[in-house]
Amino acid sequence: MEKILVTGGTGLVGKALEEVTKTEKQINEVWYFAGSKDGDLTNLEETEALFQRIKPTCVIHLAAMVGGLFHNMNNNLDFLRENMKINDNVLHTAYKSNCSKVVSCLSTCIFPDKTTYPIDETMVHNGPPHPSNYGYSYAKRMIDIANQAYHDKYGCKFTSVVPCNIFGPYDNYKPEVSHVIPGMIHRMHKLINSDTDISESEKVFTVFGSGKPLRQFIYSLDLARLIMWVLRSYESVQPIILSVDEAQEVSIYQVAESIAKAFNFKGKIVCDTTKADGQYKKTASNAKLRSLLPDFKFSDFEKSIKSSVDWYIENYENARK
Ligand code: NAP
Ligand code: GDP
Repeated sequence: MEKILVTGGTGLVGKALEEVTKTEKQINEVWYFAGSKDGDLTNLEETEALFQRIKPTCVIHLAAMVGGLFHNMNNNLDFLRENMKINDNVLHTAYKSNCSKVVSCLSTCIFPDKTTYPIDETMVHNGPPHPSNYGYSYAKRMIDIANQAYHDKYGCKFTSVVPCNIFGPYDNYKPEVSHVIPGMIHRMHKLINSDTDISESEKVFTVFGSGKPLRQFIYSLDLARLIMWVLRSYESVQPIILSVDEAQEVSIYQVAESIAKAFNFKGKIVCDTTKADGQYKKTASNAKLRSLLPDFKFSDFEKSIKSSVDWYIENYENARK
């Protein structure tokens, strides 16, 4: 029997994994989805107590301090310290508990800022990350170093995945914290429902920054399926990028247009260039994934945006906002 502990099991990716296990769970698997109420992973004793309670054989490690560009810019020290503590506690406790595999989550935003494109898995440590999110980036990069060190010293099979930007149901919509898609969904919903005499066609939606930066976005349910495949079939300690194709990259302005379409918003969209753009692009290659899993089909971006907007409208009361 495999007992799989998902840290960060109450978040965007954790909830998607929980959804996917409903149809793709194997008969010999038991899954536990832990949130911070089940134990504060910045605290070693609480981490050990969680592992003693669950007795996992494998771990999918998603728990992290997570946030969009503006949250990162204001809190680099907290992103660094909190994530370093969580990652050290989880990896060391997994080692001491004899877990046979740990899959941890990095991100394409931790790659060097000044680089050639497309970015691939060999380039994680090639140069400094973008200054906006260096705290998060260096903490995440250390997971890869720890994975190699646990393998060298104890033969542990600790590996990592590198997703591009993620979106889907159960995202974090809090304005001061959110990434671009949940942030825009929250703000556009508010604008559409604002109690004012202005007609919808006169309402103005503001894109933060120039709208020009480019991003690859993966639907959380696609990522969940890929993480399950990594747990079961990917045997290397080296990271693997889990991203849509390079051709699927879209501009932030296009994202605003897709969200407007999903809401059927008829007003204007403008850009506020006084706000930061962050990294212009972080185009990542999924060639390694494609070589190992050639038939995987990613969900259509527009349809997934529509599902995410519909989920937000239906679950407005309970959404994290
Ligand atoms: P999320 O929705 O913000 O969820 C974060 C999860 O971590 C929640 O379950 C939260 O628990 C848990 N957590 C945070 N601090 C904790 C602590 N001290 N102790 C225990 N649990 C704690 O994040 P996500 O978007 O699903 O991210 C999942 C992983 O993907 C992260 O490792 C993130 O770095 C990575 N990633 C995310 C993106 C993206 O665009 N979102 C892109 C690339 C990589 P509670 O909610 O119960 O407090
Ligand atoms: P990043 O991919 O790590 O840079 O993080 P984000 O998802 O937070 O931001 C991506 C891009 O979207 C940046 O260029 C932001 O300036 C832009 N953006 C536009 N509107 C918003 C918004 O409402 N929230 C956030 N977080 N970013 C926005």
